[in-house]
Amino acid sequence: MSKLIQIVEDDPKSLKLIRDLLRVSGYTTIEATNGRQGVELASAQKPDLIFMDIQMPVMDGLEATKILKAGKETRDIPIVALTAYAMKEDEAKVLLAGCDGYMTKPINIKKFLKKTEDYLHGHTDHTLNEL
Ligand code: MN
Repeated sequence: MSKLIQIVEDDPKSLKLIRDLLRVSGYTTIEATNGRQGVELASAQKPDLIFMDIQMPVMDGLEATKILKAGKETRDIPIVALTAYAMKEDEAKVLLAGCDGYMTKPINIKKFLKKTEDYLHGHTDHTLNEL
């Protein structure tokens, strides 16, 4: 059965790019465009992996991640933050919020698909010695 991946992203271009990449690679995708919708969708569908934008209207990705990681039914779903730029303090912030990994936008297509596989197999970007 194809893995179910949820994308939470308010920017239509980023959403389309990630959706197209994942679908071409054989994944099934579901989508939300703000954090609150993302929490509701993940609770209902229990995806295998979530890509979570950080800056979004209504509820941001950090808040949505905290809620999902506090929920008994959703805490084991890996969440990968999509960050706009690679600042060390931002990486720390998303990991502390409960994200299992992060990727910077604009995404590198090859790395994106490789890392997607890694995250689906339980890998994370936690480097606790650095935090
Ligand atoms: Mn955004």
